[in-house]
Amino acid sequence: MKCGVCGAADTRVIDSRVIKDGAEIRRRRHCDACSHRFTTYERSGEAPPVVIKKDGRREPWDREKIMRGVSRACEKRPVPVSRIERLADEAGRALAGLGEAEVSAERIGEWVMAALRDLDEVAYVRFASVYRSFKGLDEFVSEVTEVIGQRQARGETAPEPGDPGPVAGEDGEDGC
Ligand SMILES: [Zn+2]
Repeated sequence: MKCGVCGAADTRVIDSRVIKDGAEIRRRRHCDACSHRFTTYERSGEAPPVVIKKDGRREPWDREKIMRGVSRACEKRPVPVSRIERLADEAGRALAGLGEAEVSAERIGEWVMAALRDLDEVAYVRFASVYRSFKGLDEFVSEVTEVIGQRQARGETAPEPGDPGPVAGEDGEDGC
C-alpha cells in the first residue's frame, strides 16, 4: 500500500489484528522511506452470522460471550488469555466462513467444544458439562473416560489431584 505522506510505492505491515468478531483485519503499516506509520482496515466481506438461541430468539454474534464461557472453563488452567482471544476470533471467522446468515447457539457450542478439546481437556469437560448439560452421570462419565483414554493414548499424565474438576453451569439459559 502506498504511503500517504511521502508517496513511496510500498509500505510494510508491522502488525495485523482481527477485530469486530473476525469481520475486519486491522493492519499497522510503516513506511520505510519516511517512517510514517498508519492503520488500515480491511473487511473480510463475511460478517459473523446471527445466533439462533435455544428458545428460537435471534441475537447478534457476541464474541464476548464466547470469551466469557471459555474463560470460565479455563479458570486456573494453564491457558493464556491470548489463546482464548484467538479461539474466539477463530470461532467468528469459522462460522462466518459457513456463509450462512444464521447459526444455532448449539452449533457454536459444538465448535467451541471441539476447539477446547484440543486446547485443554479439563476446560473442555467443564465447558461440555455446562454446554451440553449432560443428561446424567453416565453420560458425563463416559465423556470424561473418553477424554482420559485419548490422553493416555498420547502418553500424557493425569491432572493433579487438587484440580477442581467440572463446574456446574450458572445460568443454563442460553449457553454460549
Ligand atoms: Zn512515506
